Amino acid sequence: MTEKDSAVRDMESSLMQRARAGDKDALSRLFAEHVPTVHRFAMRMCRDEERARDIAQESMLTALKSLDAFRGDASFSTWLFTIARSHCGKARRRADREPLHDQPEGPSDAVASSEPLPDVQVAHGQVSDVVEAALAALDPGDREVVLLRDVEGLPARDAAEVLGISVPALKSRLHRARAALRDHVRGALGDHVEPPSPACPDVISAFSEKLEGDLADNACAALEAHLASCPGCAARCESIRRVLGACTMLRTQPVTPELRRTFEQILAGLQRRPGV
Ligand SMILES: [Zn+2]
Repeated sequence: MTEKDSAVRDMESSLMQRARAGDKDALSRLFAEHVPTVHRFAMRMCRDEERARDIAQESMLTALKSLDAFRGDASFSTWLFTIARSHCGKARRRADREPLHDQPEGPSDAVASSEPLPDVQVAHGQVSDVVEAALAALDPGDREVVLLRDVEGLPARDAAEVLGISVPALKSRLHRARAALRDHVRGALGDHVEPPSPACPDVISAFSEKLEGDLADNACAALEAHLASCPGCAARCESIRRVLGACTMLRTQPVTPELRRTFEQILAGLQRRPGV
C-alpha cells in the first residue's frame, strides 16, 4: 500500500467511525466519494441506466441499514462494491425471469461488427469506445473481475474480497479475462498480428502476471528476451498494454445528471432521518 493509499484509508476509516456514531455529514461524504464508482460498475455490469441507478440506490440503502455490520477490516469502497455486486446479481436474476423485456446479453454493435474499425477512428482516441464495447461482450464473470481490477483499480486483495474468492483465484480469473478482453478488442479493430509459433510462450498471460508483480525475475527476463526477437509477440504484448491502459481511462466517466438527482434525494432523505 502506498503512502497515499494509506492516507486515504485512514481518512475513510475516520469518516466511517463518525458515520457509525451518527454523523450524517461523514456518511454523505463517504457516499459522495464512492456511489458514483459503484454506479459506474453497475452500469457496466447490467448495461441499463435505470437498473444501474436502482442498484446504486439499493446499495446505499443496504449500506445504511447495515452500517453496524461493517467490520472495518475492508475499506468502505470494498464493502460497498460487495453490496452493489450482490444487487447486480439480483437484478440479473430478475432480468432472466423477464425475457420479454430484457434481451440476453450479447456483443454490442461495435464488437459484433465483422468490419474492422478504420485506423483513423482508433487514431482519434476511440480505443476507449472499442474497449467499452469489448467489456460489454465479456462473460459477466470475466467482466466483473476486469472492472474491479483494471477499470476501477481495486487492489487484488480487495477485488478478491468483493468477489468472495482467494487472491490466487482472482489472479487466475483476471489473466483469463484480460486475454478474452484483448481478443474482443482485436476482433473489433481488425488487428491481424502474426499468430504465435509453437515455440512462443503465452505472452498475454505472462504480461498479465508481470503486471500483478507475480512473474519471477528469470521468467521476466525470458519474456523480455522473447519479445525482443519475436515481432508477433511484441505486438501482442503492446496490444494488451494498450487495452489495459484504455481500461484505466474508463474510470473517469462523469456522473450522469439522473444519478446526481437520485443521489441528492437519498442524501436529503438521510439528513431528515432522526438517526442513522
Ligand atoms: Zn513469439
